[in-house]
Amino acid sequence: MIQFENVSKRFDDGTTAVKSVNLTINQGEFFVLIGPSGSGKTTTLKMINRLINISDGTIFINGKKISDYDIHELRWNIGYVLQQIALFPHMTIEENIAVVPEMKKWNKEKIGKRVDELLEMVGLEPKVYKPRKPIELSGGQQQRIGVVRALAADPEIILMDEPFSALDPISREKLQDDILKLQKTIKKTIVFVTHDMQEALKLGDRICIMKDGEIVQVGTPNELIYHPINDFVREFIGKTDRTALHFNLEVVLSNTNEDNIDEKMKILTVHSSLEQTLEALAEQDQIGVEKDGKLIGTVTRQSLIQHLSSSLKEGEYQ
Ligand code: ADP
Ligand code: MG
Repeated sequence: MIQFENVSKRFDDGTTAVKSVNLTINQGEFFVLIGPSGSGKTTTLKMINRLINISDGTIFINGKKISDYDIHELRWNIGYVLQQIALFPHMTIEENIAVVPEMKKWNKEKIGKRVDELLEMVGLEPKVYKPRKPIELSGGQQQRIGVVRALAADPEIILMDEPFSALDPISREKLQDDILKLQKTIKKTIVFVTHDMQEALKLGDRICIMKDGEIVQVGTPNELIYHPINDFVREFIGKTDRTALHFNLEVVLSNTNEDNIDEKMKILTVHSSLEQTLEALAEQDQIGVEKDGKLIGTVTRQSLIQHLSSSLKEGEYQ
């Protein structure tokens, strides 16, 4: 858990980049910081691993002040991914990924296994890619290496600063899917900076909207969309495609009896989009729902229509 208590940052030139931020980021949460350029997102992120010193207030990680951690221990236990990842150009991909595990003095065998596992996780064949130099990879592949490098030593927290913004839309979409899948399996705490609302809504368990160094609103994607606290949030969210949003299928279950699920039924995870759900229910009048790998019940065409109908009355999905 990461806690900000009245955290401010004033740079030497007098710029106040972050103003009295209070924030709790939960263990295992995908937490997104979003806001216009200059709103203090990067500064907020870099204070967590002490790349930037705090001027006022305190940040705690698992209840301990970050200033009380040994700085190396802190950095090694926090993965960090930048927009333009700087892979070491003269090192192979294998060596690049192994940097932090080597600093942590893992043995060769453990490092070797970890590198293979990580490359497989992001769909890059270890035999082919391990000996290559960064320049022999596409931009999207390099960025993928940047992401797995940050995961290499199994950090508890991963900080990502606009990691996909330099990518073409297809690689970007693919990496977003990868990181979502990864997050579901590794259950790390991820703090992710972006200025793209679609990306924030797709990835975030919760989203924190910043403006001029201050927090404007923190909430789940649904809370921000349906209960924006002011015009700034409303405009920032703008015209997002709401059917593409992930929503909680648990609220639409027609029953919670897994015995009702038969083999022919299509199974969706509990966090699917409305679009995916509608597509599935266009083909079958009933689908199964799974959560954390367990089947939890079924959604019928009728239960979804009822849900949509009452949501429409409450002004949602408009
Ligand atoms: P964002 O990541 O949201 O674009 P930043 O956290 O990078 O915003 O910057 C917030 C504010 O702090 C901006 O006004 C920026 O110009 C200023 N700033 C960032 N780094 C420094 C620095 N090293 N010295 C002075 N001002 C800075
Ligand atoms: Mg920034």
